[in-house]
Amino acid sequence: MLKILNDLWNVLDDFEDLCRYGYRRSRREPYVPENRTGALAESSPAADTAFSDSLEAIASEIASCRKCVLCQKRKKVVPGDGVRNPLVMVIGEGPGAEEDNQGIPFVGAAGKYLDKWLNAISLDRSSNCFIGNIVKCRPPGNRDPQPEEIESCHGFLERQIKILNPRVIFTLGRISSRIITGREGGIGKLRGNVYSFRGIPVVVTYHPSAVLRDRSYRKPVWDDLKLLKETLDKIT
Ligand code: URA
Repeated sequence: MLKILNDLWNVLDDFEDLCRYGYRRSRREPYVPENRTGALAESSPAADTAFSDSLEAIASEIASCRKCVLCQKRKKVVPGDGVRNPLVMVIGEGPGAEEDNQGIPFVGAAGKYLDKWLNAISLDRSSNCFIGNIVKCRPPGNRDPQPEEIESCHGFLERQIKILNPRVIFTLGRISSRIITGREGGIGKLRGNVYSFRGIPVVVTYHPSAVLRDRSYRKPVWDDLKLLKETLDKIT
């Protein structure tokens, strides 16, 4: 009886995912290749110390950073969230209201949607991804981060990427995609190719907030997720 109820619950859950987001959440085990332990608890002690010291040092510098005006209205800084040595580093634009309250990236509606995208290809911030942003403090009213704000924060991002050394970078939206690929143009023009940032492959897609507003982006996002998975499969 319990099994039947559980199966029924899963069917309803899938149906809700399909209706609301166009994806079925994956219930497969997260994808962690044998030679790449992503989870914090499983990292080697030596690597652990180096990583935690450095990532913590960056987080603490961000916490006291006053290099741009975004520090004036922030409630919390949002340095990033996820595992060390991730398969994928996801880079968004900047924290929104909920992220500013919690100090964790992508925890609002766009974040929940992003989690579903990642789950659909067996990725997940608790086992094999790290999620960060171009700017670590909330731009007021969710406006675009300004060039001087992006410039002030860029050193933190560069250092995070160097320490994390992800297998692939996945950028969300126009701003982060332009900065990481170094190319001009909207996502419609940039998507579909694999770029490189300091030798790390980069896949770009629309920002989940944009896809929540415009359902026509769902199909291209699914294609981009497939490209991300193919890119990972090639190198893992
Ligand atoms: N949008 C982003 O780009 N980043 C977040 O952390 C949340 C929403």
